[in-house]
Amino acid sequence: MTNTSSPRRVGIIGGGIFGVATAWFLARAGVEIILLNDGPLANGASNRSIAWLNSANRRSAEYHALRMLGMDRWRSFRAHRPESHGFLRFDGGLRWKSLIDGATLHETLKYEQGIGYDSQWLDCDQIAQKISGVDPSSIKEGHAIYNPGEGWVDLPSVISLMARELRARGATLVENAGKSDIVTNSGKVSAVRTAAGDLFEVDAALLATGPSVPEAVRELGMPMGDDSPVSLLILTKPIASGLRCVLNTPRAAIRPAVNNCLAIDSGWVERAMIIHDDGSFEYSDETVQTLLQEAEKLIIGNPKLQIDHVGVGRKPIPGGGEPVAGALGGIEGYYVAFSHSGATLGLILPELLAREILTGEISPLFANFRPTRYADDVRAAQ
Ligand SMILES: Cc1cc2nc3c(=O)[nH]c(=O)nc-3n(C[C@H](O)[C@H](O)[C@H](O)COP(=O)(O)OP(=O)(O)OC[C@H]3O[C@@H](n4cnc5c(N)ncnc54)[C@H](O)[C@@H]3O)c2cc1C
Repeated sequence: MTNTSSPRRVGIIGGGIFGVATAWFLARAGVEIILLNDGPLANGASNRSIAWLNSANRRSAEYHALRMLGMDRWRSFRAHRPESHGFLRFDGGLRWKSLIDGATLHETLKYEQGIGYDSQWLDCDQIAQKISGVDPSSIKEGHAIYNPGEGWVDLPSVISLMARELRARGATLVENAGKSDIVTNSGKVSAVRTAAGDLFEVDAALLATGPSVPEAVRELGMPMGDDSPVSLLILTKPIASGLRCVLNTPRAAIRPAVNNCLAIDSGWVERAMIIHDDGSFEYSDETVQTLLQEAEKLIIGNPKLQIDHVGVGRKPIPGGGEPVAGALGGIEGYYVAFSHSGATLGLILPELLAREILTGEISPLFANFRPTRYADDVRAAQ
């Protein structure tokens, strides 16, 4: 499908990396932008992400290709913007946890090397020589996978940089707009609306509300799988840890953050969350303290870490795990963006999506990630 006319005015619901970056690409192409976010910009998953830029582990060839392009786009962004050097780094990743179900770390290494991913096998002596800030005695496995090409990004810093440019280009960014929505009329998008009922007429709109996307789509009568767990991220106070690369270990993932802070999370913490029937959630102080202690063990000298703040909320993960991006289908001018690994995909997915919104042309890279795939699955099962 090709648009007969490009939209002149696009509404975006959601001020996380997908909403803001798509707005940024569209504004650069001359489109007028109205972006509505419930609270301040970057108040969702983008503000509590470990944001490891990677394509480690086993996944579909299409998803791997998109992630590799995602890393490529961040490298270009960094190369052309010296101001990003403090919040976008490619200092490598070190793992001694296999994320492939049932595979040993060495089998994971072999798989990754087989597809050309730059994975290297280091023993503890090599780690001690090569990787700063890590306590090799914490690596009970005796080996780790080192990926020199991986990195991390501070998404709120990117969002703030893009928001500045968007405002300079005349975009309307409405913060604290409350629960906003996309208004349709006769099967077409007609406006975006704040919780207070303020309407902004638009020609097309993007729903980029992170883990809230599936619920809004289901309210339109369309299926969308949702596996979003509740996750927790600790941000520490500044510390001279010497750590530069991203660590993924059995009990904690940890990365440097801006201003010499550290960001810490782990999969077991998601399973320790207490989720109530009404969807509300809580966590124990013991969970936070245990995670902090696990992180301390990883750092050379095992320094005492101090918590600056803890971010808790849902981590967007589409049903089936792969991204959801593009036209929703059934409503003209209605687009969605919903993905796990939104840090890695933080530029490439919005770039391709902005092009689809502008031209109606679907990137072949998006062929497997269409929002309509859930409806196709339902039909196939009938
Ligand atoms: C703990 C954790 C670890 C992660 N680790 C990694 C990683 O290592 N690598 C990686 O690549 N990715 C990682 N991710 C995933 C990545 O951070 C997310 O995929 C990405 O931030 C999602 O961005 P988004 O714009 O879709 O959503 P969000 O950042 O959640 O933005 C959506 C925005 O919409 C707002 N909103 C919601 N509903 C409405 C409404 N109705 N009206 C107005 N506004 C609304 C929200 O408040 C929010 O600001 C991690 C995420 C978490 C939470």
